[in-house]
Amino acid sequence: MASNFYPAYPPDLNDEQKEYLLTNLKDWSIAHGLAVRPATSYVPPEQDPSAALATTAPVTLFPSLFPQACFEQAKSVAKAYNELYSAIASDEGWLKEIVEELIEIDDFIADLWKVHLAVKAEGYVQPLNLGLFRSDYMVHVDPSDSKSSPTVKQVEFNTIASSFGGLSSQVSALHKHLRSIDAYPKSEPAIRDSALPSATSVPGLALGMAKAHKAYGDSASGSPLCVIFLVQDPERNVFDQRHVEYALNESHGVKTFRLPFGRVLADTKLDQERRLIYTPPHAPDRHFEVTVVYFRAGYSPSEYESQKDWDARVQIERSTAIKCPSILTQLAGTKKVQQVLATPHSPHLKRFLPDEAQAAEVLKTFAPIYPLDKSEAGQEARKLATDSKTAAGYVLKPQREGGGNNVYRKAIPDFLKGLPETHWPAHILMEMIEPPAQNNVIFRNGEIQKGEVICELGIYGACLWKDGGKDEEREVLENFEAGYLLRTKGSGSEEGGVAAGFGSVDSPLLV
Ligand code: ADP
Ligand code: MG
Ligand code: MG
Repeated sequence: MASNFYPAYPPDLNDEQKEYLLTNLKDWSIAHGLAVRPATSYVPPEQDPSAALATTAPVTLFPSLFPQACFEQAKSVAKAYNELYSAIASDEGWLKEIVEELIEIDDFIADLWKVHLAVKAEGYVQPLNLGLFRSDYMVHVDPSDSKSSPTVKQVEFNTIASSFGGLSSQVSALHKHLRSIDAYPKSEPAIRDSALPSATSVPGLALGMAKAHKAYGDSASGSPLCVIFLVQDPERNVFDQRHVEYALNESHGVKTFRLPFGRVLADTKLDQERRLIYTPPHAPDRHFEVTVVYFRAGYSPSEYESQKDWDARVQIERSTAIKCPSILTQLAGTKKVQQVLATPHSPHLKRFLPDEAQAAEVLKTFAPIYPLDKSEAGQEARKLATDSKTAAGYVLKPQREGGGNNVYRKAIPDFLKGLPETHWPAHILMEMIEPPAQNNVIFRNGEIQKGEVICELGIYGACLWKDGGKDEEREVLENFEAGYLLRTKGSGSEEGGVAAGFGSVDSPLLV
């Protein structure tokens, strides 16, 4: 699994082999939309004034080795995780207690909660919820028992804007293609098609949205129905989203529009029944009733520049459109919730996942996570985090998404020194998972980077559920695993974000 197990993987390439592989990789990736808009550091805007250029997304040349048992383990808990997080998102009272610990010290969480309270006061009009989740894992080997089998440990659980499903399907197909055209010389282990699992994230995510679209029901306004992809503007990772959008159009006949978050108030309105009506700027005489709003924006405080942006969020939340995710589902995905669930012997997991066998499997994927509050565990964690020797084994996380927000290892003590102690509980302290390193080659911005890498496996889950409110039972209408994502980064880099500039998309060679 690690390079010491397979020292000859990936195989070395001579100059001709490298040329052949790279030419094919570059052509195939553009021909199949395994692409991003280039970073301005790579292509300065003056060289692309009409923003028409695209380039290969950061990818690995070879599929990375990944233990098959770990891959299966991660997939096998996907449905249990869907069940767990849909139950949490439906338990407003429980979430309130979590949020109340954060409200005074985290303005973003406080503002999200305000949106929920405003809509609750008026009454929600859509009981259906869609989750397109992604649970992220790294391979963990027990350091005290090197002979023990590796397992996966969860890095985090994403409930909003879980990205890269579109590109994941493509990179898996790319590696299969390179194998089929003999771009890979002989290696041990061999790059066999049967050891390269197909990526089903595009059809999986599209199916999730199609199910929600259908469950919404018929148009009541008389306008045709559509799904909205709520996006950032500009968005470099547009093709990742387009793959899912096109699958929704082509396989399910669902009309989709991309709506920049900043244009919500200009292009949508609520009718008397709070149906969300979208009017495309290119066709102002046409109107569409929105069934599903799929958020690929709105997860970061920097996107809410003024009250108008919060008004936009309220408008969507108030509507009859099915939100993917709702505010409560977004809040269920905070790192604080993950930490509370992972608290040893806590009753919470059982409460949301009464099936004992399922709960036991989920529990196995938890890594140690601590609060930084005044509780006993919190005091213990404060000691670990303020001593640079012990802090080296940990990562400090605020309640944020999208990469680039965490503080790693030895940087933690100084970071905390600069932060008033009252604000420490806005973070959680998590043990670093130390996956075995291996070698691979990353192609990024036209450059080759060869070296030691580590992998992070994401498993998508789709869940459609009906929030019963006070009087009715919650009802799960759809619950399925929706494909995988493998991201790979240099082993020296702490962050793994592909978009944030640290990693690459990859596919697994199961061993
Ligand atoms: P975000 O929601 O911003 O993606 P993450 O919790 O996923 O935040 O952290 C970002 C990255 O930091 C991860 O992709 C991973 O590479 C690294 N990371 C986070 N937690 C751990 C951990 N416990 N062990 C090892 N790496 C981690
Ligand atoms: Mg992450
Ligand atoms: Mg995240």
